[in-house]
Amino acid sequence: MSSETAPQQPISTDENPEWYSRCCTDLSKVNPSGGRIDGMKAILTRASWLWENGRTITVGFVLPVPGTPVQQAKVQEVVKEWEKYANLKFHFIPNGNDAEIRISFDNTGSWSWPGTVALSIPKPTQTMNFGWVGSNPGIADNERGVILHEFGHAIGYMHEHQSPRRGEKLTLNEQVIIEYTKRTQIPPWSEEQTRHNIINVYTRAEVSNFSEVDFKSIMMYFMPANWNVQGIEIPPNYDLSPMDKAYGFLNYPFFIGTASSDPNVNILNSLNTAKVTGAARANIALEYIEGDWRGLRAEFTRWAVNQRALSDRAQAVSEREETTAAVAAVAEVEAN
Ligand SMILES: [Zn+2]
Repeated sequence: MSSETAPQQPISTDENPEWYSRCCTDLSKVNPSGGRIDGMKAILTRASWLWENGRTITVGFVLPVPGTPVQQAKVQEVVKEWEKYANLKFHFIPNGNDAEIRISFDNTGSWSWPGTVALSIPKPTQTMNFGWVGSNPGIADNERGVILHEFGHAIGYMHEHQSPRRGEKLTLNEQVIIEYTKRTQIPPWSEEQTRHNIINVYTRAEVSNFSEVDFKSIMMYFMPANWNVQGIEIPPNYDLSPMDKAYGFLNYPFFIGTASSDPNVNILNSLNTAKVTGAARANIALEYIEGDWRGLRAEFTRWAVNQRALSDRAQAVSEREETTAAVAAVAEVEAN
């Protein structure tokens, strides 16, 4: 193939592994027809953007850079992993222009429209792009990671690092990140782009269900330690985390008789991993037994929203206790 099929070359910096310079663009807040989408709903995208359970989604390769057979084969191989945990089938068709998910390998970075938004992108425009899946034999870790990540978006997963619950674990050094992406991305990211793709958290209206932040998620960005106040370094993830798999199953369940190819992926293990207990657990199990995936999603979302409310309340209580303690300390000093 010609040189234009070459993936975007990695940008190496001295301070970070090269993968660090590759950031996925999140299109979840961009309206395909231009402008922003308001009132988007959870870390899965709003429920209306999730595919119907059990659906077969057609996938193909399109211009401007449909890729080499090797590049295409990598995508086809890696995406089978998602099919083990989410009850969806990716059917690759020869004429990519007719496919629902249309993939290209041009140099605009790696990105994907979330969930069923792909259906509203006029054919044959690409709905997903891989900026760094190459034609070398073998699937490199970062290639597997980015294919799993972009297909995560395509089935409705949002960025883990933009979880509404991120604040429980991470406080970002915003200026460091803004300077970094300005320096390393091609073309350089504006402050607005960096805020959109990395810094801003999703509002509760934008997402339907989300867990406490899962550093192991395929949807979590790598993060050098100087990107956050806590000094936590998050290495790149190349595989689906247990939570990614559980959320896949709970949103796209394999009902009895349609078994997942991984016997460990079942309703009870998924509920355990997601730490769903009490009445919510019973309600979800009931929907599962009835084979009602819409009902199951709705119950799971309700649980997630309640968890967030509990977390908010716990944070408020802890802040109030800190204030009370501070006031008491001041009173004590003054009394002395
Ligand atoms: Zn992404």
